[in-house]
Amino acid sequence: MLLSRTRIPRLGLILPAYNEEEVLPTTLDVLRKIKAELIEQQMVRSDSFILIVDDGSKDKTWSLIQQQEQQNRDVVGVKLSKNFGHQSALLAGMTESIKLADIVITLDADMQDNPDVISQMVQKYLNGNEIVYAVRSSRKTDTWFKRNSAMAFYRVAGWLGVKLVPNHADFRLMSRVAVQALLKMPERNVFLRAMVPLVGFQSDKVYYERGERQAGKSKYPLKKMLSFAIDGITSFSIQPIRLLLHLGILVLGFAGVEILYTLFEKLVGNPTAGWSSLMISIWLLGGLNLIALGVVGTYIGKIFTEVKQRPLFQIEREDGYPTQTTTNHE
Ligand code: UDP
Ligand code: MG
Repeated sequence: MLLSRTRIPRLGLILPAYNEEEVLPTTLDVLRKIKAELIEQQMVRSDSFILIVDDGSKDKTWSLIQQQEQQNRDVVGVKLSKNFGHQSALLAGMTESIKLADIVITLDADMQDNPDVISQMVQKYLNGNEIVYAVRSSRKTDTWFKRNSAMAFYRVAGWLGVKLVPNHADFRLMSRVAVQALLKMPERNVFLRAMVPLVGFQSDKVYYERGERQAGKSKYPLKKMLSFAIDGITSFSIQPIRLLLHLGILVLGFAGVEILYTLFEKLVGNPTAGWSSLMISIWLLGGLNLIALGVVGTYIGKIFTEVKQRPLFQIEREDGYPTQTTTNHE
């Protein structure tokens, strides 16, 4: 049975933003309206806030955030010293927000994550969940390629033992305990959607229709998406190495059969010229060797980055934290 909570939480909405000057003003308007409704319904505290992480933008994103901070007490800006990438920006946002907020919701700055489900997410938290995943109810706004490649990704990931919530990206609610647990993970290859389910806790899902980007361009070109998917899998599964081992055994078995066959041909006294089988063997084994080297190399690359223990983000400055009110909402 889920507990119903009686304490009204302070909510922090986290937006990672990389060159989002075109869409940010609209997004803030929409989110502010939603936040006001939640406050009115006494679902979140009146000092709830929106925290924007400027992930090293080169456009006017930061000056826009500063402007917002001056005009409104409910906006917090965090500027990273360079572009650290979406996942690290989210982690930076969570690290900072959780100092103030009881619950955080991460969502994209371009309004593709439909903010209309935010109140359902908060409701699920109030019902006793620590994590609420927003899941896409359909992928009809995606291109054929994106839809099918995503499906293949979830299939392969599941097959290799990576626990993911299908069709969920980074639109989610997390309570303070869940965030604190997540922040204890020391890894450098951050793939939040696979890390969050690892922390456990009571969780639930809400469903939403993912919209079109409201303005500006996607920051995830195909190349980046592909490396994100490969990273996601190789950071959470050593299954590919095991598969290699199995493949090795199978190949060895084939070699055994070949030897037996050759012996048999010798005994019968009818040996073949062997030119084609020789060529095929060389090419086949050469290919297998290369694949093996590639996979092992990927893991060595990971060990390399983990060992270096580079910080995931470096905050250049932060200001505009809303003042903490002393009102007791218990
Ligand atoms: N983003 C970021 N750093 C990056 C790339 C993207 O903070 O290096 C942010 C971006 O501003 C947006 C979110 O991550 O708020 C998702 O990016 P985008 O909408 O471009 O991805 P898509 O929806 O096309 O997959
Ligand atoms: Mg987007």
